Amino acid sequence: MSGQPEPARAEGRRRRPAVVVGLVSLWLAGPANLPLWRALDALPELDGPRGVVFMLALGLMIAAVVAALLSALAWRSTLKPAIGLLLVSAAIGAHFMGTYGIVIDPTMIVNVMSTDARETRDLLSLRLLLTVVLLAALPLWWVLRTPLAHGRWPANALNNAGGAMLGLITVVVVGLVVYKDLSSTMRNHKTLRYLVNPLSSVYSLGRFAYAQDRRPAGPPQAIGQDARTIPLLSGQHPPLLMLVVGETARADHFSLNGYARDTNPGLRGLEALSFKQVSSCGTNTAISLPCMFSHQGRKAHEDRGQDSENLLDLLQHAGLAVLWIENQSGCKGVCDRIPHTRPEIPAQGATPPEGTLCPEGECLDETLLHGLDERLRALPAERRARGVVLVLHQMGSHGPAYAKRSPPSRKPFMPECTSAALPQCDSGSLLNAYDNSIAYTDHLLTRAIGWLQDQAGQYDPSLLYVSDHGESLGENGLYLHGVPYAVAPRTQTQVPMVAWLPAATLAADHLDLVCLKHRLDTPLSHDHLFHTVLGLARVQASEYRPELDVMSPCHGG
Ligand SMILES: [Zn+2]
Repeated sequence: MSGQPEPARAEGRRRRPAVVVGLVSLWLAGPANLPLWRALDALPELDGPRGVVFMLALGLMIAAVVAALLSALAWRSTLKPAIGLLLVSAAIGAHFMGTYGIVIDPTMIVNVMSTDARETRDLLSLRLLLTVVLLAALPLWWVLRTPLAHGRWPANALNNAGGAMLGLITVVVVGLVVYKDLSSTMRNHKTLRYLVNPLSSVYSLGRFAYAQDRRPAGPPQAIGQDARTIPLLSGQHPPLLMLVVGETARADHFSLNGYARDTNPGLRGLEALSFKQVSSCGTNTAISLPCMFSHQGRKAHEDRGQDSENLLDLLQHAGLAVLWIENQSGCKGVCDRIPHTRPEIPAQGATPPEGTLCPEGECLDETLLHGLDERLRALPAERRARGVVLVLHQMGSHGPAYAKRSPPSRKPFMPECTSAALPQCDSGSLLNAYDNSIAYTDHLLTRAIGWLQDQAGQYDPSLLYVSDHGESLGENGLYLHGVPYAVAPRTQTQVPMVAWLPAATLAADHLDLVCLKHRLDTPLSHDHLFHTVLGLARVQASEYRPELDVMSPCHGG
């Protein structure tokens, strides 16, 4: 670096950029795609020599695409930074794909960007560090130490164009040779394309940057300008609706929906209505949450040109008292314009039981119920007289640390997986830890209903619980959630939804319980949430659509 090196020695160590591009491309296509090769190796249709040929061909195609990209960037000032970027993103991608079986896609990046420090602590690990050192740091160290013999710019440009062309021609020729296997494999296993490293990571980062750019700007469009509460009839009290927003709960792990293990011992005894076929709006919190509270429904919300106010704004416009209580990483903008609060974390050394409910500064969901009487009394009296909507945002079954979601005294299923590297746990202990979190949600809802029962006489209470999305628990090698909606497995999109309406509330709202019980198998979605809540809160607004109110066909009299 310093002074003039001896010409002869320096020339001897210099390498042509094309050689470095070729070696880095093979490295990225091979070791950095271990999750992809493992997934392909597990496919029965790729058994035998034909599968080996197909995988070699696919590896060559990936290397050729990377080589074409790097060749185009093979200038003195751009080649090494580009190699560094690809190596690091490939290593991080390979870690998350290999450890959690999660794919790197635009929604995953939204996930990572909006994850708070506590969640990141669960995700970061020594394994990630090792993967980055092995897959990125070591080859990068070699690349940075290797002096490159870039020619003068006309020759450099010619070489770059030639390299890029060669790469593209290789992709096309090899692609044509294995076209039949390639198209059928990618069609039958759509999630595989997201395992192609580093291209999917780079593509997703680009899409994310583009989407950030195009994110609806400006203040949200007002809704519910004509919203108002329906005047109380004789025998009616103001509605008191508790809306519990669940986290990462799967519909098929509720025993109310037919799960073989008893994960709902509390709700079972309370005549709770469990809607068995509810699909979510997204496969992660950042997408599902705003969509659930939107009046637009999934499709229109996804395509929106401008943000709108949401269900909670509308309830507030109608004059109701609304309060959001948060026990997670935030409400994703949903509660921005309404009162919101958090359970108070007790001071260090606080005495049990409060002390044990917030271990390591993270509170268990039961703390959402602390001081509810005072919270209710503190809401404005004139609003309370029209009705109250309390939203509880759970930590629920948030992974990968499922075991942290239930207290030691509430773990019916043992032993539990306590590692964040989920594939290292046996599936039995993983299911135990997850099911304990579901059973704890059942306990939370049961206690919440107990509190609501105490409010009868002053209010007509009701509870509605729905999760934001599901979870993969190792099916097909997938863990956690966040797979793009179009190709997501049902385990990630089918969510539990439970309503509890005591006899007095059913009578006050002229709701027919038998009719409601006949609707439990109706296919529903998060699109129904907005309108169902308006119905339960007895609010009229031009945005209300009765055909999307789950309860409306059961209104008698
Ligand atoms: Zn979530």
